[in-house]
Amino acid sequence: YNNTLPSPWLNIFFSLLPLLVFVFLFWFIFMRAQGGQNQVMQFGQSRAKRYGKENKVATLFPDVAGHEEAKRELIEVVDFLKHPQKYQQIGAEIPKGVLLVGPPGTGKTLLARAIAGEADCPFYSVSASEFMEMFVGVGAARVRDLFAQAVEKSPCIIFIDELDAIGKVRSAVSPMGGHDEREQTLNQLLVEMDGFDTRTGVIIMAATNRPETLDPALLRAGRFDRQVLVDRPDITGREAILKIHSRNVKLSPTLDIHIVAARTPGFVGADLANVVNEAALLAVRKNKTVVDQSDFEDAIDRVVAGLQKKTRLINQKEKAIVARHEMGHALVTYFTPDTDP
Ligand code: ADP
Repeated sequence: YNNTLPSPWLNIFFSLLPLLVFVFLFWFIFMRAQGGQNQVMQFGQSRAKRYGKENKVATLFPDVAGHEEAKRELIEVVDFLKHPQKYQQIGAEIPKGVLLVGPPGTGKTLLARAIAGEADCPFYSVSASEFMEMFVGVGAARVRDLFAQAVEKSPCIIFIDELDAIGKVRSAVSPMGGHDEREQTLNQLLVEMDGFDTRTGVIIMAATNRPETLDPALLRAGRFDRQVLVDRPDITGREAILKIHSRNVKLSPTLDIHIVAARTPGFVGADLANVVNEAALLAVRKNKTVVDQSDFEDAIDRVVAGLQKKTRLINQKEKAIVARHEMGHALVTYFTPDTDP
């Protein structure tokens, strides 16, 4: 008798079993949902890189050649972060935002990094395109997160590279009904820039090479009210940049850097860095131990015109045509007054 009837405990267990399974399932689903939410939260976090005490920016002003006016403007910004009381005492307000404007490769990012190195404060660096994601609202959330972090760590600098990626003029009607994400991100940026005042010690710097496409709301006073032009270098600037970039290159004593600078009008800093490196590579190819003038000449040609195509065949007739054409250029410039001989 005892063996056939199950014990009362077992009975209770079996009647509760479906309930237990349900409770477990609910718990499981709940935990999963929580996990998912965490992922969404991470999505909205800013991807800005932070440089601070642990990973200091090593770039300083002497690493940036030329741009004297730009540096002077920016030194003031550094000074404000270091001694805010000096300005507050007299009642002056330091600009909240500084916009670096100039063609690509002229050293805007480099300048911003130099500020971070000089100011000795946390530096958040982010490219505007990193705010954007497929989903509407993420960009705005990232902007909010970035500013929240920055205010916590103030005094500090936020640097937004390629601002035009989010800062384009907002359209009244968008043809595809799109661009919502970009506009929301931009709106959030405008809101954040208004939301804190200069006493919090957060300075926003941004770089763009297309200032004319920016939304006027970004440029009005109280936002990016200071614009700093970072232009193509002139001959002295180019010479200085060449000197900086050839610091670690063994140069021939006969080399005249001034001539190299004179031969590279229109080159920006990035091009010049490239010229120095190409010259060094060419010298190695020719088994030399130092880089001399001819290497620089060849390097300039390479940067201007691309690789020499030694194997490309041109027939005699084509060569004659090209030769006459080029002779035409040479004669015209030779006989035109005030041109480059
Ligand atoms: P931008 O942000 O204006 O497009 P970058 O700051 O990225 O240009 O410059 C690219 C590179 O060109 C720099 O890393 C640096 O090596 C070189 N460069 C540009 N301008 C200068 C300069 N004024 N002095 C020294 N190096 C420069």
